[in-house]
Amino acid sequence: MSQRTFSIIKPDAVRKGYTAAILAAIEKAGFKIVTIKRMSISTAQAEGFYHVHAARPFFGELTRFMSSGPIFPMVLEKDKAIADLRLLMGATDPAKADEGTIRKQFASSIGENAIHGSDAEETAAFEIGYFFAGIELQ
Ligand code: ATP
Ligand code: MG
Repeated sequence: MSQRTFSIIKPDAVRKGYTAAILAAIEKAGFKIVTIKRMSISTAQAEGFYHVHAARPFFGELTRFMSSGPIFPMVLEKDKAIADLRLLMGATDPAKADEGTIRKQFASSIGENAIHGSDAEETAAFEIGYFFAGIELQ
């Protein structure tokens, strides 16, 4: 049964011109792009999105980075979409990411790591609703 997940092409990857290459890798891996848009978010909006990390030492750095330039939030669909996107993304730290993963190819550091992907069904539901209205998700 197909499942939906939420992803963001982060500001570092957009700045470097990797958007199309990352979308190509996502489509090649069998995901349907249900919806996507280009936008910028404020630091407060990034804080709301990453609220589960509020107590972490890198929270300020993370939310400033996520609001530093345009991003592409999107909803993706496929069998096992949540787990499969995490595999395609690779480890949080690109230095530890497997060959062929998006972070290995396009990310430069643990802070600026090119792509976000939901880590569970509940977080996917929250994150999709944070960025998209129901009418955008048909
Ligand atoms: P994401 O949630 O963005 O998909 P992830 O699930 O692989 O990434 P998390 O542990 O959820 O990793 O951390 C969220 C984000 O916070 C990371 O993607 C990274 O950009 C940033 N981050 C995590 N650990 C660090 C760190 N030690 N230093 C700086 N930034 C970090
Ligand atoms: Mg995460």
